[in-house]
Amino acid sequence: MKDSPSVPGKSLTPLGLVKHLDNKLLIGGKLVNAKNGKSFPVHNPATMDVIGYAAQAEAIDIDQAVEIAKKAQKEWRHVDAINRGRLVAQCGDLLEEHKDELARLMTLETGKALRTESQVESKLFANTFRFYGGLALELKGETIPFSDSMLALTIREPLGVVGAIIAWNVPLLLMSLKVAPALVAGNTVVVKSAEEAPFAVLRAAEIMNTILPPGVLNILSGDGPATGEPLVCHPDVAKVTFTGSVETGKKVYKNSSDKLTPVTLELGGKSPMIVCEDVDLDVVVEGAMTSMRFTRQGQSCTASSRIFVHQAIFDPFLERLKAKLDALKIGDPMDLETDVGAVISPAQHQKILTYIDMGKSAPGATAHACSSLPTDPKLSKGLFVQPVLFTGLPNSHQVCQEEIFGPVTALISWKDFDEAIEQANQSEYGLAATLWTNDLKRALKGVHRLEAGFIQVNQNIVVQPGLSYGGMKSSGIGKEASLEAMLEHFTHKKTIVFNMG
Ligand code: NAD
Repeated sequence: MKDSPSVPGKSLTPLGLVKHLDNKLLIGGKLVNAKNGKSFPVHNPATMDVIGYAAQAEAIDIDQAVEIAKKAQKEWRHVDAINRGRLVAQCGDLLEEHKDELARLMTLETGKALRTESQVESKLFANTFRFYGGLALELKGETIPFSDSMLALTIREPLGVVGAIIAWNVPLLLMSLKVAPALVAGNTVVVKSAEEAPFAVLRAAEIMNTILPPGVLNILSGDGPATGEPLVCHPDVAKVTFTGSVETGKKVYKNSSDKLTPVTLELGGKSPMIVCEDVDLDVVVEGAMTSMRFTRQGQSCTASSRIFVHQAIFDPFLERLKAKLDALKIGDPMDLETDVGAVISPAQHQKILTYIDMGKSAPGATAHACSSLPTDPKLSKGLFVQPVLFTGLPNSHQVCQEEIFGPVTALISWKDFDEAIEQANQSEYGLAATLWTNDLKRALKGVHRLEAGFIQVNQNIVVQPGLSYGGMKSSGIGKEASLEAMLEHFTHKKTIVFNMG
């Protein structure tokens, strides 16, 4: 094992770091070029400037990364669990030392506001490694009272090489939710980063590789067909863990089924927020701001993009929420005064605007556009969107049924609690839900009836290590962020019987 880590490029600016990582993959502990020499541009969504080029990994690179990871796993699985945990926790400590650098790099490539989003995520990122590092001795089996003359037990073993594919909206957090439990459980990992956000993930892995043995954590960049698909289909990948859209998740599921590879799928959402008439309006409006992840331009799988508000408080709720949104500053994501940055890509920008137009043309609907777009000429090509609150749209409308992944939410009025729950459940998704009431009886009824994997009453915090997170219906299969996630998704159980008779 390595001793005191020395991380290269410590004093580099975000653009300097991109140059350092330009056109590189991380395989076997080293930054290397893709074998075929292909690369693709990565943009700053706030200006649309090209910030650098990411290496396009293809089958030949995937073969190499998986082979090296497979070799490394043969040793890594035999490192005592407590030492694996110690190394992973040490990665958390070192990542925390680099949290500002990682946050700035992430803001550069994603357009997310530094203060409200990237700084928060990079802390959570480091903590996830510490959390899982401390769980190493929980990789326990059971003894079974089978017979007095036999000792029957189960042990937990690692699966092998894990292929991890992630989305761009919270790239570091998503990486940690897959890499940390996989490593602690004794697997090695090949991550495929998202095309839009390859650099922060690559840098984080470079930092971690000053602690981890070579080959234990490898990073590939590239698109879905050339990089993601061959990784999923690789015969030596023993487990696939995926975060992304339902459409891609289904392809990943099909491809994995050909060789019966176990899969975890964390997919999209259209999460409801139900607001009862007995709440403190100021508290619940603040809750809606977080619930809808407005500071992330609504680019969150759990965003409360349907808010069901009791008719008695509908108008004051709308008024106060709009006032809060109007006070947000949309602008340069690197500026610490900025609350809301840009959306990720021209395609996503166009998709959001199309949904806003669709909503506007619905009979009886009103679009309440909030805050204002930046006027700084440096940001004139940036992908900024004003948050929009829709009123007058039925829950059946496309804006209320399809995942927009932008700062657009529909406010729907209700008067009967059971009907509100029923409407909330009328969705193909089942990722998360929030319920706001001070009536315990109603809260209990609601949490039992809501169809979602993660339900919060009177709050909406983001994913936290320790709280199992994952959806039902089209929102996915399996859990992340908890001990259960590590045991169920990154180990298999072996049953052993000793005949002592
Ligand atoms: P996406 O499905 O387009 O891409 C996700 C990843 O899959 C990318 O790395 C992409 O390159 C890769 N990919 C594409 N085609 C592939 C293929 N055929 N085989 C293997 N990999 C392939 O999703 P996106 O637009 O990047 O991300 C947004 C989506 O992610 C939203 O639907 C959002 O709800 C979801 N998401 C879910 C969670 C969660 O925890 N449930 C968290 C964040 C984002």
